Amino acid sequence: LLQNMQTQLTTLEQQTEFYRRKLAEQVIASQTDPLTRLPNRQAYNERISALRQQAQAANTSLCLAVADIDHFKSINDKYGHAAGDKTLQIVGQQLKSGLTGTEFISRWGGEEFVMIFPATELGVLKQKLDPLRTRLTELPLKFKQEKVTITASFGGACFGPDDTADSVFERADNLLYSAKRSGRNCVVIEQDK
Ligand code: GH3
Ligand code: MG
Ligand code: MG
Repeated sequence: LLQNMQTQLTTLEQQTEFYRRKLAEQVIASQTDPLTRLPNRQAYNERISALRQQAQAANTSLCLAVADIDHFKSINDKYGHAAGDKTLQIVGQQLKSGLTGTEFISRWGGEEFVMIFPATELGVLKQKLDPLRTRLTELPLKFKQEKVTITASFGGACFGPDDTADSVFERADNLLYSAKRSGRNCVVIEQDK
């Protein structure tokens, strides 16, 4: 009887381990954008609320930025949807590789990326976003034998004491549209208003 129970226990332990691993994989998949392999909007929502709490507890500044690829629709129209997909992957990786380990990037949707900058003041945010913008223009992209230059517009804002993640996001998004109206391929942050 003991031998029998031992065998059953081992089987149960193996099954538990199998499902534990499967669940962990599913959690990662549910937070990852399948195209760019970056964290998705769900992951962003969780991260921003965690970082907001940390910033409040430590009384440090917290900024976020929204980036949107300029005239992206024309990449799809001229070179096809696959070229558009490739562009999103490359732009995502290029932005990510320009960030430090404590900074965060997600694909928020379509051709829009959201970045979080812990312990960053507004003045420093501008200094961080401009090089990211420049890095995109330097990407050596080529579709249908044509050299293609990608640009993006950026809006950045910082949490104030009464802000929620949504209110800061909305300000950053509005500033992004100011950047679009100013001719695109530029960074607009709060104090530039
Ligand atoms: P703007 O400079 O004003 O941002 O212009 P835009 O063309 O970038 O913006 P618009 O919103 O007109 O077009 C966005 C396009 O992004 C339209 C949509 O088909 C494309 N898009 C969104 N998600 C994907 C995707 O996953 N793959 C591809 N290939 N295209 C996508
Ligand atoms: Mg857009
Ligand atoms: Mg766009």
